[in-house]
Amino acid sequence: MRQDLNQREADQLEDFFCSLNGAKAPLLLLDYDGTLADFRINRFDARPWAGVRELLSIIQKDNRTRLTIITGRPAGEINPMLQLPEPVEVWGLHGAERLFTDGSREMQEAPPEACAKLDELREQLRHYAFGGLFEDKPNAVVMHWRGHTPRQAKHIQEKTRAMFEPAAEMSGLSLLEFEAGVELRVGRDKGGAVDAIVEQAEPDAPVVYVGDDLTDESAFCAVNRLQNPHVSVLMRRVWRQTAAEVWLQPPDGLRWFLREWEKAVNRPSDPFRQLLAAG
Ligand SMILES: [Mg+2]
Repeated sequence: MRQDLNQREADQLEDFFCSLNGAKAPLLLLDYDGTLADFRINRFDARPWAGVRELLSIIQKDNRTRLTIITGRPAGEINPMLQLPEPVEVWGLHGAERLFTDGSREMQEAPPEACAKLDELREQLRHYAFGGLFEDKPNAVVMHWRGHTPRQAKHIQEKTRAMFEPAAEMSGLSLLEFEAGVELRVGRDKGGAVDAIVEQAEPDAPVVYVGDDLTDESAFCAVNRLQNPHVSVLMRRVWRQTAAEVWLQPPDGLRWFLREWEKAVNRPSDPFRQLLAAG
């Protein structure tokens, strides 16, 4: 656990954990890669940090928390990696896809011109990906340069931008930057996913979003705009400029946060607090 939380961060967390006391179905919204699990060149090797699966299992078994993963991956990849006692709801492809706990799935509709453009680029990138790792997603084309030398990374990035940026001018398509890559895509972003989840949740449900990457910034902003009790958490070894209200370092900061969450939702209700809330 990071020892040097500043006063503002400590106060924010304390207020937030207090709001969990007696709350109906608080929302625990988590990114996966870099947040619950360390990065791996082969993304199927990215398993949760030690102890994280156990802590999430306890939270899930409690049945007091609405646990949801919001990831850039296709949603179907998450439950087999997490291996919790029950499947969790997953919003995949940065929010364009929703996988329910019963296995049913919803995919956002995309404009046909945008889909045709993505098909054209897929075809080109399958033949030649500038030395980078091309990832083909149902709603996007993605280029990764993690693991390359700075010189190679620069080359891949320049070539990819020259291809993606003109396409991003098209209606329905947008660029999504992340650390060591860029995605050209259609559909809602993680902020849109947070908005949609909160809209369907209990009014005034406390909300946390925890993420590490640039793609999580829209989710931090969506959480920060809420009237509900909330906190946005950057989970990252090294601090960077962010809209998140609190910075924690994985994996210790993550384990600490999950333990505190579990304690807070199970704290015996405080009758004075309830009286005050009842006005
Ligand atoms: Mg991440």
